[in-house]
Amino acid sequence: MPKKKYPKNIERFINHVKHQCDLLDVEFKLTKGYAVYTGEGNSCFGFFSPSNEKHKGLLKVAIGKKTREEWILTLAHEYAHMLQWFNQDKIYEDFHDNEDAYFDLEIQTEKEALKILTGFDIKITDSLKRKSDKYIRQIRELLIESKKK
Ligand SMILES: [Zn+2]
Repeated sequence: MPKKKYPKNIERFINHVKHQCDLLDVEFKLTKGYAVYTGEGNSCFGFFSPSNEKHKGLLKVAIGKKTREEWILTLAHEYAHMLQWFNQDKIYEDFHDNEDAYFDLEIQTEKEALKILTGFDIKITDSLKRKSDKYIRQIRELLIESKKK
């Protein structure tokens, strides 16, 4: 974990996520690289994988070459997935079944991520909002693309 001084609200958010991860037997990692690998051959800016009887869970976010705003949004998004998993949210349990469910999940998760940040007094700036909207657009395009096949 890189030791850096963050503003109070950011620090509080990170510590909160870390603490929740401890409680849920999930390893928490912020890595210095640009991307993280999911172990399924994919790379992305962050992911969450749940714990089970055999394995610890993992919540990992890449913070390299990104603005803090960018990776904080990713962190909030993955943290939202962890909460969905913990709460046995139906939308989280369904997403492996089909792409529409995955798309719905991602839209809802982005909303939840922004709400979580607001709850920690982390301001949703216009550029943060744009990043979030852009992510939703990308997911939508992927969905449309895959339906053409
Ligand atoms: Zn997601």
